[in-house]
Amino acid sequence: MGMRASSSTVVLAVLTAASCSDPGEIGATYGDAPGEQAEPVDGGGPAETDASGEAPEGQTGDAAPEDDPPETEPPEVEPPESDPPANECLEATAPCGADTDCCAGLDCGTTTLGQVCCGMSDAPCATANGEDCCGDLLCVDGSCQDGASMFKAPYACGQSWTYDHHSAEVRQALDFIRDDGGETDGAPVVASAGGWATQHWEAGGAGNYIVIDHGWGWQTYYFHLWEFSVPDGSQVVQGQQVGTTGSTGNSSGPHIHYEQLYDGVGQAIRFNGESLAPYPAYYGERSYVSDNCP
Ligand SMILES: [Zn+2]
Repeated sequence: MGMRASSSTVVLAVLTAASCSDPGEIGATYGDAPGEQAEPVDGGGPAETDASGEAPEGQTGDAAPEDDPPETEPPEVEPPESDPPANECLEATAPCGADTDCCAGLDCGTTTLGQVCCGMSDAPCATANGEDCCGDLLCVDGSCQDGASMFKAPYACGQSWTYDHHSAEVRQALDFIRDDGGETDGAPVVASAGGWATQHWEAGGAGNYIVIDHGWGWQTYYFHLWEFSVPDGSQVVQGQQVGTTGSTGNSSGPHIHYEQLYDGVGQAIRFNGESLAPYPAYYGERSYVSDNCP
């Protein structure tokens, strides 16, 4: 029997320079969002006191006749401090039971503090951690915003990089290379927002990579780094260098493979709240100049 001739011509489709293949399920192990712990709701109002005027019945008639007491108003009882006056409203972060409890512009929603008066999208806010913003909204630059609004480009302030959709769709990743005449290889990779940075290695995939956990379910990934610039587990601020651009792992050339994840699921990448989707398929179609300035 003759062997079946197999066409062994392997067509290597050279797509574009500096891309990388599906790094697999890396995100799955880092998708644990910190669970929101709602504080127990104090359901008890002030205990009702027994205000009934039942007097023990007198037994004998020897009691001195009482004068008719003058009709006096019962003394005004000051309401306890914890009861808000009915004509005022609850400010942000105050526990509430309904939207109508809260001052104008606030809703009664859930934050990390529990069920409190809080702001919806674009409402003013003051807390660093967004406790006065409803749901998953964070307090970004003084107003309640979707968490992704906090992210800036993962490369240095003022630099222009072009980007394309990662070759095999994975978590809505983008690949970035520099297009302003500067070198991509060795260029600083910077934190899109503040958080906690951890070092990772995946041979044949992401290579050296950093994961920054920003809290509230948000993470960013930076793959194929030549080297790390921060210790494992360190706290970083927005714009801080966390590594240098390289081509480690499954990569055909220096680039930054970048992802934004919410609760472990890749999101359409946004810088300053503006989405880069729909993504271009090739480098050179669109560029983005970083305003991730320290
Ligand atoms: Zn990639």
